Amino acid sequence: MEVTFLGTGAAFSPHAYNSSILVDRKILMDAGAPLTVHLPRAGVSLDEPRAVMLSHFHADHTFGLAWLILGRVLLNDQTPSLSVYGPRGTASYLERLLDLAWGEEMRRMSWARLQLRVQELADGDTFQVDGSRGRAFTMQHASRLACLGFTIERDGVKLGYTGDAEMSPQLDALVSASDHVISEMTYDDEGGELHLARKDIEELMTRHPSVRFILTHRGGESSVNGAVMARDFLTLQLPLR
Ligand SMILES: [Zn+2]
Repeated sequence: MEVTFLGTGAAFSPHAYNSSILVDRKILMDAGAPLTVHLPRAGVSLDEPRAVMLSHFHADHTFGLAWLILGRVLLNDQTPSLSVYGPRGTASYLERLLDLAWGEEMRRMSWARLQLRVQELADGDTFQVDGSRGRAFTMQHASRLACLGFTIERDGVKLGYTGDAEMSPQLDALVSASDHVISEMTYDDEGGELHLARKDIEELMTRHPSVRFILTHRGGESSVNGAVMARDFLTLQLPLR
């Protein structure tokens, strides 16, 4: 499994772009990065991703989708279909996002041309994404929004992705269902609300010693012993050796 980081900053990090992770050139996990620039820079055409998994609707995880969707349609006469997975409310969120970004006419046109298929997920739901089995976990993050983390199984790797999260039993369940986990670490210091801090990551690593941690959504630039620190345009081959 190949994982490329298209954006590894927290919402307001000065050193890195917003969250987006590309799996095997086919699956995007969140879409906060400027995808019409970062996909080509990673050597991937806008047509290649077939699925987008949205963890939640904050701007730093979703706004790049407006560019990917219309850019892909306008730059290519023939473009493959696209599936979007996300929490409840994903279809109406996507409609509003595209209406605000480009207007209703462009939203209808791009939705039809991409044969956009939206699957809304709740805690414990399993789904198929580009031939891989996925599972959704509810994460505690923003109380007014449904927030998810995911696991996907592909090429013998069980990859977890936390999205944005606080410590919770469901986060532990996600980590223990994974052999590699891409986790947010917004706070380098003792931390605050809504997100994970270094001390939380160290606790999780102690509780799940066989899981490999890859840290993203980074508010700072410090490192954690034993974890891979993601940076923009880092590509990893999983399983890690
Ligand atoms: Zn968030």
